[in-house]
Amino acid sequence: MRSVQGLHHVTAISGPAQENLDFYAGVLGMRLVKKSVNQDDPGTYHLFYADAEGRPGTDLTFFPWAQMAPSRAGHGLATEVALAVPEGTLDGWARRLERYGVALGAAERRFGERALPLRDPHGLPVALVEAADGATRPFTPWEQSPVAAERQILGLHGARLKVRTLGPSIELLRNALGYEPAGEEGGWHRFAVAGGGSGRHLDLAEAPEAPRGLWGTGAIHHLAFRVDDEAHQAEVRAAVEEAAARPTPVIDRFWFRSVYFKEPGGVLYELATDGPGFAVDEEPAHLGESLVLPPWLEPHRGEIEAALPKLAAPAPVQVAP
Ligand code: ZN
Repeated sequence: MRSVQGLHHVTAISGPAQENLDFYAGVLGMRLVKKSVNQDDPGTYHLFYADAEGRPGTDLTFFPWAQMAPSRAGHGLATEVALAVPEGTLDGWARRLERYGVALGAAERRFGERALPLRDPHGLPVALVEAADGATRPFTPWEQSPVAAERQILGLHGARLKVRTLGPSIELLRNALGYEPAGEEGGWHRFAVAGGGSGRHLDLAEAPEAPRGLWGTGAIHHLAFRVDDEAHQAEVRAAVEEAAARPTPVIDRFWFRSVYFKEPGGVLYELATDGPGFAVDEEPAHLGESLVLPPWLEPHRGEIEAALPKLAAPAPVQVAP
């Protein structure tokens, strides 16, 4: 069995789309590489933030379902996404985030790396982590970012998950996805793939007393893992079935092909191919500038555009004087 290659993207649920754009592009300085719609709910945007090229592994995406109630913390959810930043930049990040009134936790060390936990404007737990191997990550800075190139977010670093009992979740991670144990710290069990490092690990904790977590604004909707191509995807999909999870058929997401399944602890996973990628339907220089629809939704563009809130260029809201 070939293991997956780490995280492909993480998708979360946000409040109003403009506030989401203002934070991720305006404050965190990520590039909006695709402005599309939720393919199962085309009245809702699907916003993709990544490095300048929209590489797999750099991509944090959102469904702005502003009408949803806030999420409920608990087991059966991914509870935090960690973003990699270059070593030595965390203090500068803390100053920038304070200037914009972002809710910051105390900086801490996690598995030897400096981490700054924070909440996005809709309550999503995010951590910025100085990635020990950040300098070797494939990354292209976005020259129009409000954040200097040498401080920019490098991509997905990892994610935290809480499950009621660890055993079955670990078994699936190891047997179907190829993750291996990589240490334990403060109740968090780290699992890594392809040698570990930034973008190639997950941290799991057991939460036997917690209620079932519920999706809502500020929740992570799913974690997507990288597979090289459709053959690799079929191999991993077969291993997932073998592990008694129930994967969907392959779904064409146009920028990649996807298979979804719930792992035994209740967290929604996806297997996403590296290709064809975001440049399949837009010029690399103009990614994210206009609303892109997959071909089968193109005939409904008029009604879809009319139903979506208009988005202005990202403007970070400065809270502090
Ligand atoms: Zn996805």
